[in-house]
Amino acid sequence: MEQDALSPENQEEIPVTEASDDGQHGSAAQTDDADQQGPRHFAGFINIIGRPNVGKSTLTNALVGERLSVITPKAQTTRHRIFGLVNGEDYQMVFSDTPGIIQEPMYKLQVQMNEYVRSSFLDADVMLLVTEPGETFAPDDPTLARLGRLEIPLMVLINKADKGDPEQLKALHHQWLVQFPRAEVRIIAAKTGEGVAALKEKLRSLLPEHPPYFDKDTWTDRPERFFVTEIVREKILLNYKQEIPYSVEVAVETFQETEAIIRVRTLIFANRQSQKAILIGREGQALKRVGMAARQDLEAFFGKQVHLELFVKVREGWRDKESDLRSFGYDG
Ligand code: GDP
Ligand code: MG
Repeated sequence: MEQDALSPENQEEIPVTEASDDGQHGSAAQTDDADQQGPRHFAGFINIIGRPNVGKSTLTNALVGERLSVITPKAQTTRHRIFGLVNGEDYQMVFSDTPGIIQEPMYKLQVQMNEYVRSSFLDADVMLLVTEPGETFAPDDPTLARLGRLEIPLMVLINKADKGDPEQLKALHHQWLVQFPRAEVRIIAAKTGEGVAALKEKLRSLLPEHPPYFDKDTWTDRPERFFVTEIVREKILLNYKQEIPYSVEVAVETFQETEAIIRVRTLIFANRQSQKAILIGREGQALKRVGMAARQDLEAFFGKQVHLELFVKVREGWRDKESDLRSFGYDG
C-alpha cells in the first residue's frame, strides 16, 4: 500500500483555483530542541474564545495592533481561527481568535464550527474567555465545564466595560470568580483599549519558556502563507468527518503575489491512501468544494484575486518526519 507521495499518480491536480500553507500551528519555525545556550525565550498560544459578538476580534486586534487590522474581518464574520503575533525581544505571543461559540447549533456546519472552537482547547498555553455584561450561561454549559477542567492558565475578560454599569460589572466579576476560582477575572473594554495594555503585560508573564513558533522577522511573508494554511484547514474541517481533518496536514508549496493576483500551490498530505480518496471525492467534487470555499475566504482576506491549486498526496506518518516536510518545500 505504500505510495510515493511524489509520483504523478499520487497527486491530483484539481482545476479549481484554490490554496494553503503549513498545517499545524507552530510548524513554521518550530524548533523542538530548545537551544539551552542562548538567552531565555518565551512563546505560547493564547487562545481566545467566547460567544459571537462579545468582542473577541476587537480584542485580538487591540492586542496585536495595527498589523492585524488588515486581516480582521467584520464583526460576526470570523469563521476560522485567526492568528495574530506579538513579537518582543525575548517572547512571542501567538493569539488565536476563534469563531464564536454557537449556543444551540441549528445545523451540522455549526456543530462543526463549535467542534473547531473545541479544538482551540487542544493547543492553548493560555485560554481567554471573553464575555460581556448581560450574557447568560446555563449551569451545565459544556464550554464552561471544559474551561473548568483546564489545567493551563485561564483568564475571564468581561468586555465592554464602557457600556456596563459599575455595580453590575462588580457583581459579574464576583460571579465569574465563583465559577472559576482558579481564573483571573478582569474587566476591560477592547474597543476603547481600557485594560488592554495591562492584560498584555499579564499575558507576557504567563508564556511558557519556548523558542519562537514563527519567524520573528518575516512578518509579511510567513504569516500570509500561514493564514492560507489555516483557511484551507478550516474548509477541510467543515467538509469532512472528524477523522480526516485531524489526519491531514496542509502546506503551501509556492506563494506568489503580484499587484493583481496571488497564486498559491497547496499540498494536502493524507496519512493513508484511503483518506486521499475521501479527500478528493467522486470526480474531485469534495476537494473542489474545499477549494472554492477556501478561495472565497482568501480573496476576502487578502483583498485581491487568488488562484488556488490544491494537491492531495499520501505520506504515511508524514507528520513525524520533519525531513520529509522540508523536502517538499515546506520551509519550516
Ligand atoms: P466577536 O464576534 O466576538 O469577534 O466580536 P467583534 O470583535 O466582532 O465585536 C462585536 C461588536 O462589539 C462590534 O460592533 C464591536 O465594535 C463591539 N465591541 C467590541 N468590544 C467592545 C467594547 O469594549 N465596547 C463596546 N461598546 N463595544 C465593543
Ligand atoms: Mg470575531
